[in-house]
Amino acid sequence: MTSNAFLLAALIVATSAWSADKSGAHHDHAAHSHGQGQLELVVQGDVVQLDFEIPMESLLGHEHLPKTPAQKKAMAELQVGAAQANYLVVLPAAAACQLQSAQARSDMFLGKKSEHSDLDVQLQFKCSKPAALQQIELAVFKRHPLLKSLKVDMITPKGQGSTTLKPKDPVIRW
Ligand SMILES: [Zn+2]
Repeated sequence: MTSNAFLLAALIVATSAWSADKSGAHHDHAAHSHGQGQLELVVQGDVVQLDFEIPMESLLGHEHLPKTPAQKKAMAELQVGAAQANYLVVLPAAAACQLQSAQARSDMFLGKKSEHSDLDVQLQFKCSKPAALQQIELAVFKRHPLLKSLKVDMITPKGQGSTTLKPKDPVIRW
């Protein structure tokens, strides 16, 4: 390869990497936009499943690996908190729901450095009085004010739907 051809190839690679990043195409199923999270909710019988994808920027204020002791503490608290009932969501007490399984993952928890990072959380609840389950409050907005909206796709006993939640009314109703 001549040096000109090499430079041209390097330029093409750099340009396509740039456009892929600008379009947010580095995520398989969703665009990554700061301030905007996504939730897939399935309520079926007595089981509630929630699948969150939230930019780490909206939870920590940064997507670089934590540097200061305060940043390290905040990320550790997020990692522990996100996998607990009532951190991201509050289900109605009358529905008597128990957290059955929880997983919170992020590249940043693994110490992986990348330009953008998400928090992915899967929660599953089982409710002994599912008839009382007609709404879910998103507690995440109060804990993380940098999160400005959450796009929700849901399947509930009322059918399929989608909505976008904002901090001023952070409740999914069906
Ligand atoms: Zn980002």
